[in-house]
Amino acid sequence: MFFLFTIFTDLNIGCMSDMVSNINSLRTKIPASVKLVVVSKTRSVDEIMNIYNCGERCFGENRVQELLDKKKKLPMDIEWHLIGHLQTNKAKSIIPFVSMIHSVDSFRLLETINSESVKAGKVTDCLLQVHIAEEETKFGFSAEELADANVSDLISKMSNVRVCGVMGMASFTSDTNQVRKEFRNLKLCFDALKKKLFAPKEYFREISMGMSGDFKTAIEEGSTMVRIGSLIFGERVKK
Ligand SMILES: *Cc1c(COP(=O)(O)O)cnc(C)c1O
Repeated sequence: MFFLFTIFTDLNIGCMSDMVSNINSLRTKIPASVKLVVVSKTRSVDEIMNIYNCGERCFGENRVQELLDKKKKLPMDIEWHLIGHLQTNKAKSIIPFVSMIHSVDSFRLLETINSESVKAGKVTDCLLQVHIAEEETKFGFSAEELADANVSDLISKMSNVRVCGVMGMASFTSDTNQVRKEFRNLKLCFDALKKKLFAPKEYFREISMGMSGDFKTAIEEGSTMVRIGSLIFGERVKK
């Protein structure tokens, strides 16, 4: 019995130390100007603490309930980012503490975030999610929608959101040229918005693009934030 226990403990430690070497190796591949958001969805509190103890403080979750559950059990100085689709009726629960919402995919949602932020007495940093992939199912604005003249008025009316940039997800493909083209489109979309709406605003500077499989290409194409999970924690077990 004791023997078995020892084996399991060792296995566990083995796996945790892999994560430490993963994060150390990943850090050498990300320039200092690019922020790492450690994507901790589906990972346990122990796994997250392991990476926290390596010095990481910025974690990203894609589901509100999971984010709320984990936040309660983890240190207060973690900077939580929401990276997945947010339903308007769930915005209220995360606004008081969330550091950034990457996945704003409609003006209705942006308005809700604004009014909840007014109530919470804070200004919430947001990114506009742009649909850049060929796949149909992904959430986000189209580049055309954001090029609309009314966008400027809409955003300027919202006192308690700070639109800091854009976010996008490339197609899930091994075709690097396709992925590069999509990231390049996101950068063009960022540049156009910057010029049109945010030129004097120094806070409009983030391009959140790049995941485990494509972060190198994303950085080459101008990413300022990469969102990485599997490369740190290992492959996610499909539920
Ligand atoms: C899961 C997820 C990631 C990270 O994916 P990995 O392939 O594990 O690095 C990044 N961004 C979003 C929006 C995600 O949902």
